[in-house]
Parts: sequence; structure tokens; C-alpha cells
Amino acid sequence: MHCPFCNAQETKVNDSRLVANGDQVRRRRECLTCGERFTTYETVELVMPRVVKRDGSREVFEDDKLRAGLQQALQKRPVDTEALEAALANIRQQCRASGEREVDSLFIGELVMQQLKKLDQVAYIRFASVYRQFKDLEEFRAEIDQLASDPAAAKKSI
Ligand SMILES: [Zn+2]
Repeated sequence: MHCPFCNAQETKVNDSRLVANGDQVRRRRECLTCGERFTTYETVELVMPRVVKRDGSREVFEDDKLRAGLQQALQKRPVDTEALEAALANIRQQCRASGEREVDSLFIGELVMQQLKKLDQVAYIRFASVYRQFKDLEEFRAEIDQLASDPAAAKKSI
């Protein structure tokens, strides 16, 4: 692995451990030339099902897009990167576990909602309001009421 700072070829691994429920290896590396430290994440590359969008068009499963969506919902919320990565790993896993060659974008949306519900209630409501396109305050309130009565939801108060 080349050093991203000085492009030297010799870097060493100081620490290596499993993260995201064991789906990723995190390595702390150090450049032997400039001494900078950096982190790499290693993940198995598996063929993901294609995503069928609401309008019927198909697109490739984009991890980055999914991550960006979650990050947006989690903006300024007390959820660390590893919890986010674990949630992403979980969503990927469930998409693969479906065994289908194509999955509906609505299915992925529901998986995201499930994960956010466990991670952070504010992020969940943020995502739900955009994703479910709440039409008015009543729909919004109904979702919050439902969340409040859901024992699976995070204990953190809104
Ligand atoms: Zn370097």
C-alpha cells in the first residue's frame, strides 16, 4: 500500500482488527519514509444485486450513495463511523441474503429505516420524512408516535 502523503511504497501495519460485525478489517498503517499514519478498511468485494428504482430503471448498487444517505440523516448526531459502517454492512448483507439478482429500491429504503431506527431516532425521523415524503404534520406526528411506542427503537430521547 503506497503512502497517500508521500507516495512511498514502504508502509507498515501497526494494528489490524475486525470491525463492522467482522465484515471489515481496519488497519492502522504508518509510512516508513515520512512517518505519517493512516487507516485502511478492507472489505470483500461481492457482487451486489442491481437496484430497481421507483420508475422501473435499474442501477448498480452504490455503496457510496447509500453511505451518503445515511451520513446525511446522521449529520451532527452522536453516532460514530464504526456504527455507521456496521449499519451499512448489515444492509448489504440483507440485500445479498435476499438471493435476488435485483432488489427494489423500496426494499433498501426499508432496510435503511430499520438501521437508523436502531442507531438514532432523530436521524430516523429525518430520513423517514424525506423517504416517505410526509405530506403534513399529522403524518410526521404519526411516525413519531409509532417510534415512541416501538420497543426496538433506540432508547435515546428525541
Ligand atoms: Zn509517506
